[in-house]
Amino acid sequence: MALDLAPLNLSGVEDKRPVIIAGPCSAETEEQVMDTATQLSKKGIRIFRAGIWKPRTKPGGFEGVGVAGLAWMKRVREELGMLTATEVATPRHVEAALDAGIDLLWVGARTVTNPFAMQELADALKGNDVPVLVKNPVNPDLELWIGGLERINGAGIKRLGVIHRGFSSYDKRIYRNLPMWHIPIELRRRYPNLPIFGDPSHIGGARELVAPLCQQAMDLGFNGLMVESHSTPDAAWSDASQQVTPDVLDFILEKLVIRNLSQSTESLEVLRRQIDEIDNALIELLAKRMRISREIGTFKREHKMTVVQTGRYTEILDKRGAQGVLCGMAPEFMKTVFEAIHEESVRQQIDVMNK
Ligand code: PEP
Ligand code: MN
Repeated sequence: MALDLAPLNLSGVEDKRPVIIAGPCSAETEEQVMDTATQLSKKGIRIFRAGIWKPRTKPGGFEGVGVAGLAWMKRVREELGMLTATEVATPRHVEAALDAGIDLLWVGARTVTNPFAMQELADALKGNDVPVLVKNPVNPDLELWIGGLERINGAGIKRLGVIHRGFSSYDKRIYRNLPMWHIPIELRRRYPNLPIFGDPSHIGGARELVAPLCQQAMDLGFNGLMVESHSTPDAAWSDASQQVTPDVLDFILEKLVIRNLSQSTESLEVLRRQIDEIDNALIELLAKRMRISREIGTFKREHKMTVVQTGRYTEILDKRGAQGVLCGMAPEFMKTVFEAIHEESVRQQIDVMNK
């Protein structure tokens, strides 16, 4: 289905790449909100984000300050002249946020997975002209993401955009949420006029990953970035490990290289991102294999067995060699790779056996 889109047209915000939305994961106290917003505003940030209602995996965590925080957002708008943005997950949130004059709403990844919730949000938004950004659902399902956009657009919201925040996975990974860049890229192919924001904070889950992820989003031609920034990140009540100070954010943004993407370099970037993702997956798989080797090492130690059992080693080399050849790789290459893997595996087992 085609989306009926209008430019986001955020007042006072220049329409150039990247449009930056920054602020803490959560509004915690009036001081923290004002302090962070003041620092960000001094760095030229025009759109302030803060979560007022926080979806938490388990009960008992900090679930947001609720409506009390809306008054602090109002202060940010009135005293600092910034636009304000928050997450809405229920019709009640929409109503309260709009009443408080929040300028930009976003829908969180957990909510986008649920079509009933999306329809309820869409119904609550009917008759309003507020810009809405829809995060990708936590699971890598492009159709579900588009379905959410269609529902919000069907309610008459034309100032629509998306936030790419990565996709969750069971395995422990380098990233908190896998970028799977091909998914937002396919969304861009289908809806070239839909603004895409990158969310390096929730993809990376770690401060040191924010800068490279901002750059990758820019290299892929994303329109903007939503970055979590807190005046004292270590003391944050949610997502402490991934928030950066306004100073650090400013430094990261200063260093960003914004290229004007031609079609050809864009395709090259897409391919390079795929290689990066595959290499990351390879490293993670190798690490998983080594963990299992260590478990085998423990078993062998307990059963007083030797580390290397030559029969098993020959079997692995022969089998993997043949499988690799079937997949179009040279037998010498397969031999080199698996000898190296086996060597590290033996080293890991010896390490466990000597413990
Ligand atoms: C957030 O932006 O703080 C948030 C909860 O994000 P997500 O919905 O991407 O997990
Ligand atoms: Mn967060």
